[in-house]
Amino acid sequence: GATEGIPDITIRILLLGDSGVGKTSLMMRYSDDRFAYSLIATAGVDFKVKNMDIPNPAYNASSALPLSPSASLSLSPEEREMRILLSKPFLKVRCQIWDTAGQEKFHVITRAYYRGAHAIVTCFDVTDGDSFRNIDYWLANIHTHTERGGGGGGVQTMIIGNKTDLQEKRVVSKEQGQALAKECGVKYIETSAKDGSNVNIAFEQLATDVVSQM
Ligand code: GDP
Ligand code: MG
Repeated sequence: GATEGIPDITIRILLLGDSGVGKTSLMMRYSDDRFAYSLIATAGVDFKVKNMDIPNPAYNASSALPLSPSASLSLSPEEREMRILLSKPFLKVRCQIWDTAGQEKFHVITRAYYRGAHAIVTCFDVTDGDSFRNIDYWLANIHTHTERGGGGGGVQTMIIGNKTDLQEKRVVSKEQGQALAKECGVKYIETSAKDGSNVNIAFEQLATDVVSQM
């Protein structure tokens, strides 16, 4: 299945956003497909891993055809490896989802947390206006701590509006979320870690964008 075998690529995805918006819950929903009301034991969980199959943007069917023995011998090991990679319609992507361990509460996300990130998900809670207004803060934080910034040019960034299952408590509309994301030049997806809606879609979208930028 999709979760077995040796990954072709490992990508590092970070979760950011105010305390309580559901970052740990999103990670658990995505990696283990479960949800817990109280997450007492989350301190100490640095990251979770999940493998997924992502369409190979560089797929080239002719790379899968056998070469003549002389052509095959003329390839360097790197060329041979590249050919194998190009012959795969799907890439096995090992997705490492990194969660903050509560340091977001004190706004002390360090440069080390950002190191090597391929993608960053900035999360807010659609029932919490402050968490939405703080998206600006988190995006600015990404810019200060990564060389290439948030929007384009390397680190893929996405805004997630979480807790859509709480429709009656909602204070941030989908349109507001979309408008902010558009302004920031990033994608916007609404999720519920509780009922699971859009969680896989969000991470798969992110991984697809990362892979297509490589
Ligand atoms: P974090 O501080 O950003 O890691 O947030 P948590 O994942 O610890 O979640 C904070 C609280 O919100 C917990 O009580 C979760 O059970 C709850 N929560 C997280 N996601 C959702 C969601 O999608 N819907 C609902 N109703 N509650 C959620
Ligand atoms: Mg947490």
